[in-house]
Amino acid sequence: MMHAMTNLRTLYHPAMYDPAPVPSYWEATAPADDPAWTPLEGDGSCDVAIIGGGYTGLSAALHLARDHGVDVAVLEAGDRIGWGASGRNGGFCCMGATKMSIAEMTRRHGLDETKRYYASQAEGVEFTRALIADNHIDCDARGDGLMDVAHRPRAFGELKEYGETLGKLFGIETSVYSAEEFREIGHDSTEQFGAIKVSPSFALHPLKFAQGLARAASAAGATLHPGSLVTSWLREGGQHLLTTERGTLRAKRIIVAANGFLRERLHRDFDGRILPVISNIVTTRPLTDDELAAQSWKTDCPLINSRKLLFYYAMLPGNRLMLGARGDLTGSPADGDRMRAWMTRRVGEVFPAWRDVEIDHFWRGFVCISQRLAPSVGQLPDDPSVFYGFGYHANGVNTAPWTGMKIAAMVAGKTVEADLPAVMRGLPTRFPFPALRRKYLGAAYRWYAFKDD
Ligand SMILES: Cc1cc2nc3c(=O)[nH]c(=O)nc-3n(C[C@H](O)[C@H](O)[C@H](O)COP(=O)(O)OP(=O)(O)OC[C@H]3O[C@@H](n4cnc5c(N)ncnc54)[C@H](O)[C@@H]3O)c2cc1C
Repeated sequence: MMHAMTNLRTLYHPAMYDPAPVPSYWEATAPADDPAWTPLEGDGSCDVAIIGGGYTGLSAALHLARDHGVDVAVLEAGDRIGWGASGRNGGFCCMGATKMSIAEMTRRHGLDETKRYYASQAEGVEFTRALIADNHIDCDARGDGLMDVAHRPRAFGELKEYGETLGKLFGIETSVYSAEEFREIGHDSTEQFGAIKVSPSFALHPLKFAQGLARAASAAGATLHPGSLVTSWLREGGQHLLTTERGTLRAKRIIVAANGFLRERLHRDFDGRILPVISNIVTTRPLTDDELAAQSWKTDCPLINSRKLLFYYAMLPGNRLMLGARGDLTGSPADGDRMRAWMTRRVGEVFPAWRDVEIDHFWRGFVCISQRLAPSVGQLPDDPSVFYGFGYHANGVNTAPWTGMKIAAMVAGKTVEADLPAVMRGLPTRFPFPALRRKYLGAAYRWYAFKDD
């Protein structure tokens, strides 16, 4: 289903916003949506309307409906719930959500607030784990830590130092493995020069997790509408009026949970504040036991490497390698083909024994970064009936559900923005000359590629 013309503006090729489900491994292995979740039709009303049906919006809906008894509806542009980053990410539930070093965060916000932020990140991992357990979500949770792998010898020392800082400042447990030790418990590769393991972290099936959250929210009384792009947002008679292709929804309060898929010109307070960045994933066909042994593969933990232009990878249930990478500044199908070819080549360069293994799936989506280099959560100062949470810097599996829960508590008057860690409070500043955002990203990519070599 293609959407009707609107005034909304997007930064990338229209293919990135096509509401049809992406051809991901997750889509191929997740159940269908509940048929009760249908596009918004006709004129309706609710207390709280949520724009965006990913982890942020679904967690906010679940907690508003279940814990605070609020009448809430979710409007999701994609043809299925969890269509955005939440249904197509790498499934790494770990800490992060910032592109700021610990030293920089401490300089900007002080040590106490830095500690509060890291505590909230660790809490986020346990919060996601508890959501899975409490709501009986079958989402293939596995692994007991995040492996941070040195891609060159020099990076191993930096990783060890980082692990020591995590322990000393925040009490976060890490283990260190030399390249030889890591070969015994992790894997071998041309870009493996030792690793650290950071707990708490684990891996999951992102779309099954999103569906589980959606089912829990729905069972608690929230109404879910996939296929419902909000094309206009007006203030009318003290209420908000949201319009979709086939309906309207009046609400007293709004939660903006659109993250990297946010369209510009929906609400001017959000324009120019985010930079969506394309993250791409390939998965191989199932690997045989002999093929796994050829790279000494032993771990079911999620892994990232020390490149600035990050690689993230994991062995999925059924022994398919998943590898993810940032890159591409347009989102066009032709550039997608080039990205797929490059990543296929990289699989073979990093894991030579798998050079000729076929790639079964390729897909991509937006992660969301901002100038503050950390998440943004709060309430609009000039309209306190509007709440938001976005900008997880490619680390939303732990951060977005936690943020949704915090927003629900703010909407219900149980907490206030000032109680959040200062690192994530309020809106980020606008990018200077926002039309140039993809050019800034191109410059950053060139710089990172230079640093990674
Ligand atoms: C390829 C990829 C890999 C990633 N890997 C990881 C990982 O391994 N670990 C990790 O922690 N994070 C990862 N991330 C990031 C993570 O997926 C996100 O941070 C998280 O899912 C954000 O959740 P969200 O609900 O805020 O946003 P999303 O899940 O993106 O949901 C926002 C939704 O808003 C909807 N929307 C936007 N505008 C409108 C509108 N006008 N009307 C109606 N609906 C609208 C969109 O359709 C979208 O579904 C990855 C992201 C990508 C793309």
